[in-house]
Amino acid sequence: MTPVSAEAGSAIDASDALPAGDVPLEKIATETYVPLAKPSLIGLSRAEIAEKLGSIGVAPAQRKMRTQQIWHWMYVRGVQTFAEMSSISKGMREDLEKHFTVARPEVVVEQISNDGTRKWLLRLPSGTAGEKAHEVECVYIPETDRGTLCVSSQVGCTLNCSFCHTGTQRLVRNLTAGEIVGQIMVARDRLNDWANRETPDGNRRVTNIVMMGMGEPLYNFDAVRDALLIVSDNEGIGISRRRITLSTSGVVPNIKRTGEEIGVMLAISLHAVRDELRNELVPLNKKYPLEELMQACRDYPGASNARRITFEYVMLKGVNDSLDDAKLLVKMLKGIHAKINLIPFNPWPGTRYECSDWDQIEKFSEYIFNAGYSSPVRTPRGRDILAACGQLKSETEKLSARERQALRAMAMTD
Ligand code: SAH
Ligand code: SF4
Repeated sequence: MTPVSAEAGSAIDASDALPAGDVPLEKIATETYVPLAKPSLIGLSRAEIAEKLGSIGVAPAQRKMRTQQIWHWMYVRGVQTFAEMSSISKGMREDLEKHFTVARPEVVVEQISNDGTRKWLLRLPSGTAGEKAHEVECVYIPETDRGTLCVSSQVGCTLNCSFCHTGTQRLVRNLTAGEIVGQIMVARDRLNDWANRETPDGNRRVTNIVMMGMGEPLYNFDAVRDALLIVSDNEGIGISRRRITLSTSGVVPNIKRTGEEIGVMLAISLHAVRDELRNELVPLNKKYPLEELMQACRDYPGASNARRITFEYVMLKGVNDSLDDAKLLVKMLKGIHAKINLIPFNPWPGTRYECSDWDQIEKFSEYIFNAGYSSPVRTPRGRDILAACGQLKSETEKLSARERQALRAMAMTD
C-alpha cells in the first residue's frame, strides 16, 4: 500500500457493493497479495533478483552477471522457461527451475474485436484460501503508427467515480509489480512481439503503454513505479518513458512523485471544471479539489510543450458538456502545458449517465480547438468485446449473461 492509501482511515468498504447514498471517498482492499511458494522473477528489480540468487547459493561474485543474463532472457527475448536461457550453465538453470519461475499471469480468454483490438482476461491468484482466482483485463489497441496496451493496476478500484463501471466494484487488491509487468509480457507473447521473433512487417507491435485499465495507479504507487521502471529499462523491454502514460483521477500527493520517481507522461481524469460537479463525478475531488490538482499539474516535473499533460474529459449528456464548461476548461488550463482528450461516455447497465450527442461533442471540441488546444475525440475501440474505457470487468464482479448482452447491444448501436 502507498502512504496515501494507508492514511485512508475513513474509507471503509469491505462489502461487495458500495452502499447507496453516503459513498466513502476511498475503499480499502479486501485482500493482500500472498507470495507464491515458487515465485516468478518477473517484476523484481536487479537487486532483488541478485538477492534471490544469493538465497539459492549463487556466489556473490557471480550474482551481477547472472542477473544481467536472466534480465536479458526475460525482457529482451521473452523466454518462458529457464531451460531456454542457453547462456547459463545447465546446472544453474536446473537450480533456478527448482526455486523460481518466469511465469506471467495466465491467459484465460483472448478476444479479438472486429477493429483489431484484442482483450485478454488474465488470471491472478487469490489471497484468500479457497477463494476463486481473480481476473483482470488488458487491452491492445493497434493503430497505423503505434500499438497501445492498456494496463490495469488494481483488481477493482480504490475510488468510486460515479460514471465508471470499475468504480462501482469493491477493491479486491493491488496488483504486484510482477503482475503489472506481466500484462506487457503476455501481450508480447500473444502478439509474437519479442526481439528475436519477427513480426510480419518487422515493426514492434506494443509501442505505447497507458495505465488506463482497471484501478487507480497512484493508489498502488510503489508497484506501478517498480513495474514502469522495468518496462522502460533500456536493457529490457525498452519502451521509452515518453511512450508511457499514467492516468490518475487526481491523487495529488503522488502526482509529483510520478514525475520525479517514474518520469512518464501524465494524464488527468478531469471530467469537470467546477468543484461541485467534480465532487459528484470524481468524489476524490472532495479530498483534492481542482485548485490543488491544477497546481500539481503546473508543478509536474518535466512537463513542457513537447511533453504535455493530457486532460481526459468524458462527455456526459447535459452534465458537463455545455459551452460554458468548455470555456471554463480553457480558462482553467491556462499556463499548463496541456492537451485535451474528449472521451465519448461508454454506457454500462444501470448507469444514470448518457453519452453527449455527437453535434454537442463537436461543438465542445471546436471551441477548445479554436482556443488553441488539440482536442481529439477518442474513438471508442473494441466495444464489441467490452474493451472500451470504463467497461473493463473482472471475474470477481462478473456481469450476468443478460447484462453482458445488454452492454453489447448498447455498444453496437452507435
Ligand atoms: N483510474 C485511472 C485510470 C483508469 S480509467 C483514472 O481514473 O484516470 C481510464 C479513463 O477512462 C479515465 O479517464 C476514466 O475517467 C475513463 N472512464 C471511466 N469510465 C468511463 C466510461 N464509462 N466511459 C468513458 N470513459 C470512462
Ligand atoms: Fe477508479 Fe479511474 Fe474508474 Fe475512477 S475512473 S473509479 S479512479 S478506474
